[in-house]
Amino acid sequence: MDFHFTPEQEAFRQELRAWLTTHVPADDGPLRHLQPQASDEDLTFLKDWQRTVYESGWAGVSWPQEYGGRGASLVERVIFDEEMAALKAPGLLNVLGLEIVGPTIITHGTMGQKKKHLANILSGDDIWSQGYSEPNSGSDLGSLQTLAVDHADYFVVNGQKVWTSLAGYANWCLLLVRTDPDAPKHKGLSALLVDMHSPGISIKPLRTMTGESEFNEVFFEDVQVPKSHLLGEQNQGWQVIITSLMFERQGLGFYFTFAQKRLYEDMRSEVKKARRYGAPIRTDPLMRQKMAQAYIDCEVLKLNNYRALTRLMRGNPAGPEGSIAKLHWAETNQRMQDLGVEMQGVGGQLYQEVETSEGGNYWQYGFLRSRANTIEGGTSEILRNIIAERVLQLPKGR
Ligand SMILES: Cc1cc2nc3c(=O)[nH]c(=O)nc-3n(C[C@H](O)[C@H](O)[C@H](O)COP(=O)(O)OP(=O)(O)OC[C@H]3O[C@@H](n4cnc5c(N)ncnc54)[C@H](O)[C@@H]3O)c2cc1C
Repeated sequence: MDFHFTPEQEAFRQELRAWLTTHVPADDGPLRHLQPQASDEDLTFLKDWQRTVYESGWAGVSWPQEYGGRGASLVERVIFDEEMAALKAPGLLNVLGLEIVGPTIITHGTMGQKKKHLANILSGDDIWSQGYSEPNSGSDLGSLQTLAVDHADYFVVNGQKVWTSLAGYANWCLLLVRTDPDAPKHKGLSALLVDMHSPGISIKPLRTMTGESEFNEVFFEDVQVPKSHLLGEQNQGWQVIITSLMFERQGLGFYFTFAQKRLYEDMRSEVKKARRYGAPIRTDPLMRQKMAQAYIDCEVLKLNNYRALTRLMRGNPAGPEGSIAKLHWAETNQRMQDLGVEMQGVGGQLYQEVETSEGGNYWQYGFLRSRANTIEGGTSEILRNIIAERVLQLPKGR
């Protein structure tokens, strides 16, 4: 692993930092990340921010230039994430489109699909969601039941998805359906690009323990999807979804690492102020131990991601580091959020309404939201299975 940046990479960092310094809006207004309680004002703010990023050529930073991206190298992409987190830039509204669906369309899409969707993903004019999980299919996704029947020019879709993030805002969905019920379970699936305003789609928000409706149930009743919206080959949808999951790990992994570091800095300023039983908590040996552990966890996350990066830069396919990073990040974040609440003493148990993403109830909100980290994007049990079997080469569990 080489920790040094080349002069070209440093120049990239300086150019980006200069742009962010003049363009990142002050951190005292609307929500800086899309959250379900977002008001119309918040949404307009986030839409405007993505358009500003897009018009300045920083959206889709690692997408190839021929598709409207900046064509940044892997290392430049990492620098991009690091600077965005360090300068507290607002999140990009269409994150699922930019990081997952867009790159998947670039890999598997037809020319027509690329023309129709890519520019709108970059600009944020279209917001995307992912419809994979179903009430009886989560970890075992290959068993899904939503059926798409082939009617020559179009498919007719019937079934139900669940936990569909952003479905309430999205106008498009990358949907995984069964097109051949007689084939072995992973072989009869197809991926469809579905217009969420199609007749027959209804969306029911689900309330989570933060009090929000982050995700939704989505019902499909005789929904017609044109054949031209099939992504990849018919009955080869599993390959498309594997591609999308690979982009998810790659695209979001580094950002989370740097966001975690930022959270650590917030925690450090908190620990300097907080007092317990009349004494500053920074003198408490247990608290000092937990802070040191949080710092170590952040460093381990970073190094593991650098290891994955080195592997990719040597031309190897994405390895199991992605699973280790996701597992470690989810559990580190939960521990750090627990600590953030603990620092506030008994008052930490109080929780009223979520005010802003960074303001009131910051730690309480983070504590509750972080419970989902060990479920979303692959549960910790499933990741441990992958690591046991593919990294440690242990025999398969029964
Ligand atoms: C915040 C959030 C956002 C999400 N967003 C989306 C989205 O946008 N689109 C989408 O399609 N899905 C989304 N999901 C769904 C997510 O992908 C699933 O929740 C996840 O894959 C687990 O599936 P499940 O909930 O059906 O649990 P199950 O698969 O039923 O698992 C239940 C429990 O059994 C354990 N388990 C299952 N199989 C095994 C095994 N073989 N070995 C050991 N333990 C096992 C699991 O680890 C878990 O603890 C989201 C989930 C969350 C929490």
